[in-house]
Amino acid sequence: MGNQKLIRKINRSEIIELIKKDGPLSRVELTRRTGLSLPSISRIVNQLIKEQLVLERGKGPSSGGKKPILLEINANRGYAFGVELARKTYLLLCNLLGEIIVQKEVIPNASQGPYSIANSLLQEMKNIQKVFEIPSHQIIGVGIATPGYKFKATDLIKESPFAGWENTDIVDLFSSIFPYPVTIENIARASTLAEVQFGWGNQYDYFFYIYADWGIGGGIVHQGKLLRGATGTCGEFGHITIDQDGIPCYCGNRGCLEQYTSTASIVRELKQRGISNFDQVMESLNKGDKVVESVLKKAGQAMGKGIANLVNLLNPQAVIIGGEIGNRCGIFCEEATYTAKENIFSLLAVNTPILKSNLGRESIALGIASEIISTHLAQLI
Ligand SMILES: [Zn+2]
Repeated sequence: MGNQKLIRKINRSEIIELIKKDGPLSRVELTRRTGLSLPSISRIVNQLIKEQLVLERGKGPSSGGKKPILLEINANRGYAFGVELARKTYLLLCNLLGEIIVQKEVIPNASQGPYSIANSLLQEMKNIQKVFEIPSHQIIGVGIATPGYKFKATDLIKESPFAGWENTDIVDLFSSIFPYPVTIENIARASTLAEVQFGWGNQYDYFFYIYADWGIGGGIVHQGKLLRGATGTCGEFGHITIDQDGIPCYCGNRGCLEQYTSTASIVRELKQRGISNFDQVMESLNKGDKVVESVLKKAGQAMGKGIANLVNLLNPQAVIIGGEIGNRCGIFCEEATYTAKENIFSLLAVNTPILKSNLGRESIALGIASEIISTHLAQLI
């Protein structure tokens, strides 16, 4: 790409992002925020209006002269589906501003094979399109968040309701069945993307997000962007070793953090007490079960050690804990914070905020759908 063309593309993306994030904005405000000249801004904006990507909407307050016309993204010019394909499958449709049009939990029949589950998801999407009268050409794509990377065989998958998927390449599967472009993302990274756009993460430039759920994962966000690393595996926080002679992990190593801190490990620890899922763990905790409380505290302490390593290594502005544990388990997060602060090396880093994510159930599907939208808007030319 020639330099001129590249610069035009960057300027255009920046304007779209600004209007999307902080709109409605006037042309003058865009000049102030980007440092571009008013003629440049007007040229780009006029083109965006011609493409119906941006709309002129009413007038803003005057700063002396005539009132400026405000610009906003034409939110309903396109839509994306987001799917969390995990123990609980969640489906949503959002517009270009990330506003959710419809969201629902879809409970696949565990005995169905991969093709049949993919087809029932497609049916759900077609129904949604019909109800909201959205033609297929307005669907930018579907983003699917899954555990693991490309849904390769792991014990995590074997324990999920999706047994039988071990040899399925879900990129191939969904691309062959869905009539929309398909993007697959690891669930922890999709969750991080949601945090960047909609959670505490939008207040920080450089933070680490921990996805603490049935498995443990994470994401490093720098300058508002998720770091992917050399081969796309950046942020695999769950597989740092905390005990070299410890519990064997499905990844092939021993003593991985995930084996001491995930909801799967907590449930396993409490199995003899008749507990088989995390809902039961929380119920017992709320009834005052002291054994459950101590197991959760111990898991929180292990997480705290992991967080201290992380802060020592990265010195982020903040650490955010999400996933089912982050959302539901205050005692775990308090213990993790206390232990982390005891073990962080530098006094300068001891006050790194360790926050519980405030995002809800829909955040993973929304995170991957929003990423598709951002990529789509950046590519439009
Ligand atoms: Zn491991």
